[in-house]
Order: sequence, then structure tokens, then C-alpha cells
Amino acid sequence: MKKLLAEIVYPHHCSLCKKEGLILCPDCQKTIPIKKIPSCPICQDKRSSFEICPRCKNAVHFSLDGIFVTAFWEDPLLKKLIYNFKYDFVLDVKFILERIINDFVKYHQICRYLKSPSDVVVCPVPLHPDRLLWRGFNQSSLLAENLAISLGASYQEDLLTRTRATAPQMLLDDVNDRKLNVYEAFTANNASDVRGKTVIILDDVTTTGATLNECAKALKKFKPQNIYGFVLAQG
Ligand SMILES: [Zn+2]
Ligand SMILES: [Zn+2]
Repeated sequence: MKKLLAEIVYPHHCSLCKKEGLILCPDCQKTIPIKKIPSCPICQDKRSSFEICPRCKNAVHFSLDGIFVTAFWEDPLLKKLIYNFKYDFVLDVKFILERIINDFVKYHQICRYLKSPSDVVVCPVPLHPDRLLWRGFNQSSLLAENLAISLGASYQEDLLTRTRATAPQMLLDDVNDRKLNVYEAFTANNASDVRGKTVIILDDVTTTGATLNECAKALKKFKPQNIYGFVLAQG
């Protein structure tokens, strides 16, 4: 609330061109590129889709079929926006990130990859209840809801629950530590109607895909046809 008041009293200046108004003006927003060439989220080989390539699929035994990666973690502007969104909850940023996601969905015609919108369910990677209480909102829920609207899909906020608190994956360098950190940390609730459908799990950022894959594992028992991750960037 304090933050919102501060924004009314002291309006933002664009981070790039310093024009008064938004934290990033519409012209400068266009300088954040979306990812136009899909790649395998594990080995990063260029592909015609965002699916995990057959070689990686055999090697890592993921429950996840692929990860849609919207933009580039190397983009300092995007990194700043994600940080502002997660830790300062600047409302402007939500709209900017949503616009980037919508551009990506349109550019790749993501609906082509999917079954009919009525057979697609979008959900967020959940926060642990203690974390949610501390932050006051789940940044992934806000973006997931927008993605569902953009795809014409249904949105199920509470499809997954985080059953134990985990350390932020970004703080762990080792691939195995990351896997262990989120191992069986999620359960699926009221998931019987995902049977035969496509589920898209949204997270802000992914690294190795371990968190998204644990979410996918929890959903797999309910026999959806496909499970994809969807992220702003892969760090
Ligand atoms: Zn600007
Ligand atoms: Zn691969």
C-alpha cells in the first residue's frame, strides 16, 4: 500500500529514456525481445517446438513435455522488471510482463501446439503458505491468470500446493541440490478433471526445470495428456 501511494505522489520515470509516466515507457518496452526460435529447455538445441528433445527426454526422465520460454534472462531490463515485480510489486510491471507474454503467445501462435482451449488448464507454481503470507501475493498466479485469458484456457489457481518450504532455487548452484530442494514438494488437488487435457504450469523463471518437473510429477497421476511449463525466462 505504501508503495502504491508512493507511486501516486512520485510518478515513475522510464528506466531507459527517463520519460515521466511508467517504469518503462511503451516505446522502451518494445526493446525487450521475446524468444523467437524455440529450443530444448534441457540441452538448448534449437528445435521447431518448445518440447524437450527426444535425447534429453530419455536421459532425464522428465514428467514435463516441454517449457515455453518467453524471453531472455540475459536481458538486464527483463531481469530488473522481474525483480521489481517479485520484491516491490510495482503494478506497472505486471502489465508490462503480461504484454510480453501476450506478444509471445501471438508470435508463436501457441494455441496451435495445444488442444482446443477448453482442454487446456493453466495453473501457477504455488508458493508455500508462509511465503505467500510474507509476500502477500504469488507473482506466478497473476501471470498465470493472464496467460489463461490469452489462450482462452481455464485457470485453476489451486491445482497444486507446495507442501513444504523450499529454498529459492536461484540460491543453489548444483543441479542435484536443486533437484533435492524441490523433491516431492508439491501435491495436486482436485485434479481429476485434468485427465486427457493439457496442463500449463507457470513460473516466473526456471533454471534446470526441476521445480516445474516436480509440479508435473504431482499432476502426472491424474493422467493429463501433456504437461508444459511456461516461464518468462530461463536463468
Ligand atoms: Zn522509455
Ligand atoms: Zn535436449
